[in-house]
Amino acid sequence: MSLVSGPGRGGGGSSSQSELCTDKHVAYIKSLDTRRDELEYWYTEHLRMNGVYWGLHALHLMNHPEALPRQETVDFILSCQNGDGGFGAAPGHDSHMLYTASAVQMLVMVDAVDDLDKSGRDGKQRVVSFISSLQDRESGVFKGDEWGETDTRFVYTALLALSLLGKLDEVEVDKAISYIQQCENLDGGYGVRPGHESHSGQILTCVAALAIVGRLDLIDKDRLGTWLSERQLESGGLNGRPEKLEDVCYSWWVAASLDIIGRLHWIDRQKLEAFILRCQDPDEGGIADQPGNMVDVFHTHFGIAGLSLLHYPGLQEIDPVYCMPKEITKNWFAR
Ligand SMILES: [Zn+2]
Repeated sequence: MSLVSGPGRGGGGSSSQSELCTDKHVAYIKSLDTRRDELEYWYTEHLRMNGVYWGLHALHLMNHPEALPRQETVDFILSCQNGDGGFGAAPGHDSHMLYTASAVQMLVMVDAVDDLDKSGRDGKQRVVSFISSLQDRESGVFKGDEWGETDTRFVYTALLALSLLGKLDEVEVDKAISYIQQCENLDGGYGVRPGHESHSGQILTCVAALAIVGRLDLIDKDRLGTWLSERQLESGGLNGRPEKLEDVCYSWWVAASLDIIGRLHWIDRQKLEAFILRCQDPDEGGIADQPGNMVDVFHTHFGIAGLSLLHYPGLQEIDPVYCMPKEITKNWFAR
């Protein structure tokens, strides 16, 4: 289970760029796990859990969930759980909120949440305890790990994982909501902490967190939708902040935020779709951040997620709040 970049370059192939090369992308993601002899595999060990999530989720969206062996995936995830209940990026790595949330998302995706409690592990409750131990009960914010960095990303991932586990009542939800409100700026966006500039990645974490707890009413949707739709550039691609270059991963953060607040139609969806397709390598598979750059699993995932949000034919529909296939979250909460 790995995360590596290359070998191909987006837009470097000779074939038509008007269609998603699904078979190539499936083969590309499968190949990542077989390149363990490469040095880069070991350099990226600190991202292993997220890498597996990006690959697995992209495969689900492309209707090839079986392309990564299920039991091996479950075994890998469980092997990353530590004594404190949290998950590290790889076996033996310190627990962190981001990897813990990715682990929970993946266990839901492969229907293995109950495996957390197998053979007396009591793993589910330990996950909940780990997450709730990272909340500052005064301000409502969450830390990423025991070392104390705070960030609206951790508020989102904490609420996401707890919501999937049905344990939101174990933390101070109202205080988390008011913390998010303090991060709102005059331009309608949200920053990493109160007083920090608006950034698309941070905006999605705040908007999705408010969606999870049913408080989208707190968002000035027209003001935020205006700022978000101004992220689309002439190329059709989206940037993360004013004056920055377009990048495929913002196809996810910007467009998912617009979708959640019901303003996705405020951008040119066809131009965005064409931009993402120009970033794929039609010969070797994989998607890059921009046309002509090296592909990697991170941008492959967010490119496909963006296309799914745009209802690209043949892809599973994505849930913009939980960043998982909509069918899976719908069935999960209907249990
Ligand atoms: Zn990017």
